[in-house]
Amino acid sequence: HGKDCVKVAVRVRPFNKRERDAGSRCIISMASSSITIQDPRNAQTRRSFCFDYAYWSHSGFTRDPGGLYLSEEAGGRYADQRLPGSGGRNSAQCTTGTVIFFFSFSFSLCLLLPSDPSLTVPLGYNATLLAYGQTGSGKSYSMVGYGPNKGLVPTLCDRLFQAVKGNQDSRQCQVVDLLSRGSRALGGLRVREEQQRGFYVEGLRTVPCDSAQQVEQLMEQGTRTRTTAATHMNANSSRSHMLIILQLKQILSKESITKQSNINLVDLAGSERQRASGSEADRLKEGTAINLSLTTLGNVISALADVAVGKKAVHIPYRVSVLTKLLQSALGGNSRTVMIATLSPADICYEESLSTLRYAERAKRIQNRAVVNESPTE
Ligand code: ADP
Ligand code: MG
Repeated sequence: HGKDCVKVAVRVRPFNKRERDAGSRCIISMASSSITIQDPRNAQTRRSFCFDYAYWSHSGFTRDPGGLYLSEEAGGRYADQRLPGSGGRNSAQCTTGTVIFFFSFSFSLCLLLPSDPSLTVPLGYNATLLAYGQTGSGKSYSMVGYGPNKGLVPTLCDRLFQAVKGNQDSRQCQVVDLLSRGSRALGGLRVREEQQRGFYVEGLRTVPCDSAQQVEQLMEQGTRTRTTAATHMNANSSRSHMLIILQLKQILSKESITKQSNINLVDLAGSERQRASGSEADRLKEGTAINLSLTTLGNVISALADVAVGKKAVHIPYRVSVLTKLLQSALGGNSRTVMIATLSPADICYEESLSTLRYAERAKRIQNRAVVNESPTE
């Protein structure tokens, strides 16, 4: 089996009110899949990164993307939430502003589902989508979306059920939603390990779903619980991770084979939390477990990037945090993984954006080995 590198997409959002009011300058530029960031204190200092996908959502809107401040810059290359073929912009229309969903369609979905329901593409791969970036940079917007600006998860579910419907005779599909409810639930539920299965959350509620709407309702419920749990802990929900786990089972009756995909959709806590800043008391309030998770995720990514460049005897600290335990197969294991790194365009976020780009660059080096999960039907 070949190796599958983690794919990395970067998306830059419009200015928000605070940035607009501060008269911010945009320090990010994109050309095809490369992205350049400029040091606001020294225009000569530029750093460029190359990723698999770059989505420009800073300017060139054709419609209000949800109450944000429209940039005056013309261009018409804004990458919106829609899919190609449904009125969204695609790569043919704009070089840098490919629709964020394009890769979900061409990457995740084509792996998991036949893009054309009449095609029988082998199902059974695991897939993971992680959103990483500072608070307010657009992780939840890209993953879940707000109101009519639906994000990746609902759109993915829509496509999933559409494809399932078109293919019902050959397979019996079941999507199970495992909702972990922020840090409280993760604290309350135990993570266990089994030889075959790897790490999993014990006693997590799983709900069989037979429509995309049902998944959407569960997600809304999960998002509400995430907020409530955070409030109870006197914290902010941007300090919690949200994992949406879809289990998709395909039963091939003729061959008596069952294929199973686990799809992890991860809206991570704000990345700015991982740096030690502020007073000791502040740091305690931030919830050390969440800090530890993101720091450990960074360490796991670094260690895997070292493995990928041939360093021997590298210890991968998966076991140090709940998050990295649950993402073990997504990172360096049996999964096809995509990370979306989200950025603010503003000069005042330079340090955070540069750190996000560096994080994403390391993630890109990780090599996984994705195999089809299939077993005889019981
Ligand atoms: P995060 O989850 O990273 O903390 P959010 O996704 O909540 O950040 O985004 C913060 C704000 O920016 C929200 O109001 C959201 O609607 C807006 N936003 C984020 N990304 C985009 C985008 N690509 N286009 C338009 N608005 C966006
Ligand atoms: Mg968020």
